[in-house]
Amino acid sequence: MTLTAPAPPASHPDREAPAAIDAPPRVSAPVVPPGAARRRARGADALQAAVWLAALTGIAFMIASGAFLDGGVWGWLRMISRALGIVAAVMMLAQLLLASRAPWIDRVIGHDKAITLHTEYGVTSVVVMLLHIGAVTVADAHVAGDNPASQLLAYWSYDWFLAWALVSLAATAIVLVTSFASARARLPYHRWHAIHLLSYVSIALAVPHQFLQGETFRGMGAAWWFWFALWVGSGSAFLFWRVVKPVVVNRRHRLTVSALRRESDGSITVTLAGRAVRSLGAQSGQFIGIAFGRLAFAREMHPYSLSAAPGDTLRVTVKPLGDASARIASLKVGTAAWIEGPLGIFTHGSRSGRDLVLIGAGIGVSPLRSLLEDAPEGGRISVVLRGRSRDEVPLLDEIESLARKRRASYALLAGGRGRTWGTADREVTLVGAIARPHDTDVFICGPHEWGRVVQADALAAGVPKEAIHREEFAW
Ligand SMILES: Cc1cc2nc3c(=O)[nH]c(=O)nc-3n(C[C@H](O)[C@H](O)[C@H](O)COP(=O)(O)OP(=O)(O)OC[C@H]3O[C@@H](n4cnc5c(N)ncnc54)[C@H](O)[C@@H]3O)c2cc1C
Repeated sequence: MTLTAPAPPASHPDREAPAAIDAPPRVSAPVVPPGAARRRARGADALQAAVWLAALTGIAFMIASGAFLDGGVWGWLRMISRALGIVAAVMMLAQLLLASRAPWIDRVIGHDKAITLHTEYGVTSVVVMLLHIGAVTVADAHVAGDNPASQLLAYWSYDWFLAWALVSLAATAIVLVTSFASARARLPYHRWHAIHLLSYVSIALAVPHQFLQGETFRGMGAAWWFWFALWVGSGSAFLFWRVVKPVVVNRRHRLTVSALRRESDGSITVTLAGRAVRSLGAQSGQFIGIAFGRLAFAREMHPYSLSAAPGDTLRVTVKPLGDASARIASLKVGTAAWIEGPLGIFTHGSRSGRDLVLIGAGIGVSPLRSLLEDAPEGGRISVVLRGRSRDEVPLLDEIESLARKRRASYALLAGGRGRTWGTADREVTLVGAIARPHDTDVFICGPHEWGRVVQADALAAGVPKEAIHREEFAW
C-alpha cells in the first residue's frame, strides 16, 4: 500500500505539486512515556489479584469464626455455601468499582478493560451467587426436614434481611435473563440499560444479610471492619464518581451547544462551550458521555469521542444510528449538555513508539481526527481512512488538511468491502508498509470485525501488541 500526501483541494494555489512520499522526513523524537499499555496490563492483573485476595481474606475470617466444624456433611455444605457467598459478594464489590468511572480505574486499566472485567465479574458473580443460594438452601432444608423449594421461600419469613436477599435474587435473575445475547438483541439499548440498573438495587439489597446472617461478619471485630471497609470503599467510590462528581462538574462548567454542523455522511458535529472547559483535562482520542436538554442529568448518557483536540470547547461528531443519536440533528445552539468523563485511554498517553499510524472507518475517524491534530511533533505519521465513498467519511476535508499540515502519509480507501480491510478493488496490508514497526503505535477505530482484521494485519506487520490501540463504538 503506497501512502501519499493528500492532494490539496482544487482551489488550493499549489494544486500542481502533489508528491508521493513513502518515508516522511525525520525530525526530533516525540515526547511519549514508554510502556503505558504494559503498565495497564499489570494494573489489570493487580486489580484481579486484589479481588481474589479480598475473597480469600473473607473466607479466612469465615473459617476463623469456626462456626461449622462440628456440623458434619451439612455443616460443610453450609460452610462451602458461605465461602461461595463471600466470593460472589467480593465480585459484586469489584463490579461496583469497575463501573464507578473513577479516573484511577481509567488510568490503571483503561475504561474498555474495566467494562470487560465488569461484565466478566457480573456473569461469574451471578453464577457463584446461585451456587451459594443453592448450597445453603439444600443444607437448611435438610436440617429443617423440608424440601429446598419450600426452604427457599421460607427464608422470606425468617428475617427482613433474608427477605431482602430474596428480592435481590429476583432482581439479579431479571438482569441475568435480559443480558443473554438473544434477549439483549430483542431489547432497545436504552430499555436494556434501564433494566441493567436493577443490578445496583440487587447489590444493595444483598448487603444487610452478609452482616446479619451467619457468624463471620457479625459483632464489630476485625472481620466486620474488613467487610465494612470493602463495602464503604466501593460504594462511596461509585456514588462519588457516578453521582457527586458529575453534579459538581456540570454545575461548574455549565456546558451548552455552541455550534452545529452537518457532515457529508449525515453526521452532526456538535461543539460544546462552557466555563473553564480546559480544566476538564480532556485529551484527544478520549470520549465523553453526553445527554442534552432540560433534565439532561436524568437522561441516559451516550458516549461520543472527541472529534477535535480539546481546548476551550469540546467537539463530538455523531452518526444517527438509533433514537438518541438521531435526535442530535434537532438540537439547537444554546441547548444544555450534561457530561460524564472525559474517559478512555485511546490517547497519545498510551503510546510507546515514535511513529504513529491512524486507521479509521466511517464515523470511526472522529477520534483519529483529534489524535492527528494533537500528535506530538516528531516521528512519522500515516493516516488511512476507509469508507464506501468519499462522502461516507465525515470530517474528511479537515483530516486531509491536517494530514497536509502534519506532512503525514495518507490514503483514502473508498469503495465496496474487500476480502481483508481494504476495498474490493484495492486490497491493502500493513506488512512492509510500516518503516519502523517496533517503534510505531497503530490506532484503529471502526466496526468490530473490520477493526479485528486491521489489528491482525498490524501484528503481522511487526507492530508490538501493546502498541496497537483499538476503540470500538459499542461495549
Ligand atoms: C467509547 C465510545 C465512543 C463512541 N463515539 C462515538 C462517536 O464519536 N460518534 C458516534 O456517532 N457514535 C459514537 N459511539 C456510539 C454511540 O454511543 C452510539 O451510536 C449511540 O449511543 C447510539 O444510541 P442510540 O440511542 O442512537 O441508538 P440505539 O438504537 O439505542 O443503540 C444503537 C447501538 O449503540 C450502542 N449504544 C446505545 N446506547 C449506548 C450507550 N448509552 N452507551 C454505549 N453504547 C450505546 C449499543 O451498542 C446499541 O446497540 C461511541 C460509542 C462508544 C462506546
